Amino acid sequence: MSSSKSFLDQLFESRILHASGVDGLYARSGTFEDVVSRFETFALTFGEHEITEAMVFPPGMPMADFETSGYMKNFPQLAGTVHAFCGGDHDHMGLLQCMAAGEDWTKGQEATQVALIPAACYPLYPILARRGALPENGAYVALQSYCFRHEPSKDPARMQMFRQREYVRVGTEDQAMAFRETWKERGQEMMKRLCLPHEVDIANDPFFGRGGRMMGASQREQALKFEMLVPINSVESPTACMSFNYHMDNFGKAWDIKLQDGSPAHTACVGFGLERITLALFRHHGLDVAAWPEDVRKALWG
Ligand code: ATP
Ligand code: ZN
Ligand code: MG
Repeated sequence: MSSSKSFLDQLFESRILHASGVDGLYARSGTFEDVVSRFETFALTFGEHEITEAMVFPPGMPMADFETSGYMKNFPQLAGTVHAFCGGDHDHMGLLQCMAAGEDWTKGQEATQVALIPAACYPLYPILARRGALPENGAYVALQSYCFRHEPSKDPARMQMFRQREYVRVGTEDQAMAFRETWKERGQEMMKRLCLPHEVDIANDPFFGRGGRMMGASQREQALKFEMLVPINSVESPTACMSFNYHMDNFGKAWDIKLQDGSPAHTACVGFGLERITLALFRHHGLDVAAWPEDVRKALWG
């Protein structure tokens, strides 16, 4: 961690990531992706005997379900929606003229039925709700998705498009709480095996606006969210590489996911930031994967 060059520049120079000209939007090298998929395999070994099913989402989710999630109420500053050209020949001419003149051609773009996924577990809930009441044991799902958040940054660990791998527990309050506590322990075990400095701390989400501060404070008071912090871009403010969340019955109510007795399900999720964990490995073990410590190589390459 001793070079004066920024970590992002080191990653570009060693061609582990490739710049695009837009902060937070990077091409990943084969080497980077290999570490991502090794970590995913490693993470799956911790929960594979418990999951009831696995899903991978495309980067977009139905706009209607995105609306139901309440994301625009809490985090409008981070959301991304997909818009498209829906006009005819005449509109097309106008659009091309607009582009040629260097004017804003995006004003005519129209909303589609697709929103970018803000957190990997969001598209799961409406799928579960459509199946009717949950089975006795609830659901325990392994997920992966690209996520979008409009937070451009020079910190390589804060991307606009990144992947989360999650385990999600949907069931009773006890099931959701027990799940979250188990994963707080397992997360630390994972970080130990990867030889990464780490610390679990209570956290809150960046709720928007004046009312948002109160919501963040209340989230902390109720100890709903914890993060696994690892120094990546700075030692003073370490980065959240995992998060452990209990949503109470908020999502159960929003999407109408029911237990067998008809009451709303409680949900909890653990999210692994795949790019962040990969970056933490490069940061602490060096840019040359072949030279990583034996224990780390054993954990990831077997
Ligand atoms: P932060 O406080 O750093 O913004 P967060 O609280 O927004 O993180 P969560 O919403 O809990 O993070 O998302 C789950 C996981 O996704 C995080 O633990 C992290 O590993 C990853 N993540 C979140 N935002 C980003 C981002 N902009 N770029 C890369 N990974 C991210
Ligand atoms: Zn989640
Ligand atoms: Mg955030």
